[in-house]
Amino acid sequence: MKVVKFGGSSLATGEQFEKVIKIVSDDFERKVIVTSAPGKRFAGDTKVTDLLIEYAKMVLENEDYTNIVKEIVSRYRQISDYFQLDESVIKLLKEKIVGLAKTDFSDEEHLMAAFKAHGEFLNAILLNKVLNTKGIKSIFVDSKEAGIIVHGKPNDADISNQTYVNLEKFEIPEGTKAVFPGFFGYSKHGSIYTFSRGGSDITGAMLSRGLHADLYENFTDVDAIYVANNHVVKHPQAIKKMSYREMRELSYAGFSVFQDEAIIPAVKGQVPVNVKNTNNPDADGTMIVPEQFLFDPSNQITGIACSKRFSALYIHRYLLNKEVGFTLKLLQIFYKYNISYEHMPSGIDDLTVIFDRTKLDKTTIKHLCHDVKEVLQPDYLEWMDDYAIIMVVGEGIAHNVNTIGEIIDSLTENNIAIHMINQGASRISIMIGIQESDADNAVNQIYKKFFN
Ligand code: ASP
Repeated sequence: MKVVKFGGSSLATGEQFEKVIKIVSDDFERKVIVTSAPGKRFAGDTKVTDLLIEYAKMVLENEDYTNIVKEIVSRYRQISDYFQLDESVIKLLKEKIVGLAKTDFSDEEHLMAAFKAHGEFLNAILLNKVLNTKGIKSIFVDSKEAGIIVHGKPNDADISNQTYVNLEKFEIPEGTKAVFPGFFGYSKHGSIYTFSRGGSDITGAMLSRGLHADLYENFTDVDAIYVANNHVVKHPQAIKKMSYREMRELSYAGFSVFQDEAIIPAVKGQVPVNVKNTNNPDADGTMIVPEQFLFDPSNQITGIACSKRFSALYIHRYLLNKEVGFTLKLLQIFYKYNISYEHMPSGIDDLTVIFDRTKLDKTTIKHLCHDVKEVLQPDYLEWMDDYAIIMVVGEGIAHNVNTIGEIIDSLTENNIAIHMINQGASRISIMIGIQESDADNAVNQIYKKFFN
């Protein structure tokens, strides 16, 4: 059995729905279908999830939300009209959209999560109706019915183990396809919690694990995952096959094709993932498989990711290596302000702490730097906002002693200063910290060294 998940652009219009229907009906094994909310129809368009966020904010601010409701309804109406569905379908979806503003939520976070989740919820209802009108036997399955239990933050939930216990008992009737909305589950108290953005990938992976799929097909709008971002490197090579851990490292550092947390349920269930293109379903796409199935020593590296979403705190203090409790005090400051950090490479007299900038605001940064100066009395402290991380990833790195050397050469030969370099213990990735303005050039130089 295969789980197939379709991304937002694959489900944005009636024409795209048509392709999805062909893909699911072409293969009997494609039994579980996971939807995203309607995504962008063209460059500059707005995803329905973003419209729902706007709607939620207007409700919270007591603003007039008539127009945004109209816009959201019109997105679903376009699709329903394309298939000439009965007016009762759009009426039902509209009622649910309008009903959101009239529902009481325990707080703003819960309200936001419920609004956001409706993008996928309504699209799954719609897709199921369309399949039925096309004579394809299918059912809509609400996450609650399937027992998808989550915990943690309402807008950044984690899957609870109970979900897998519940999914063991979940049965899909013979000869029927099941359409699940992606992106959300229910807390044990019955409230809607969403995963982080792009989280329909997580739903697909979770169902693949819980329902013991043989393959998880993740349909998006590119033919494959490429060695580097094609907006940065011209015509990069496609990756045919990669390991779970390679994908995890690359998506963490900026590869957006597959959501970075989504690989975990696939790893736990050992379900291979195939990233494919809805607009070109015959292309092989990229296979993401467990490490033991992958041995390709001819590839020294698999991918080069770059993320510009970081900031770094550099602290210098002589004899830092001899001081007991320095890092502890630093961590206590992070704890005080509820800050998590991404990396902390250190030297004998200094250390750099790298943060995800998107999780910090200006006031917190001010407080943090103030406390570090006060408590730790560093000789020098610098906050760097223009910090980028390049991640060079490959199972082949461990088999080649010269990879780091070649990367350093490719950068220094082109006058790109390296602020930090770190190779993880697993020896499948090398992380390089550089100034943001050098990032694109650096990716190109590394790509040239290994692929041209
Ligand atoms: N619709 C959600 C988002 O835009 C989830 C997803 O597309 O996977 O983040």
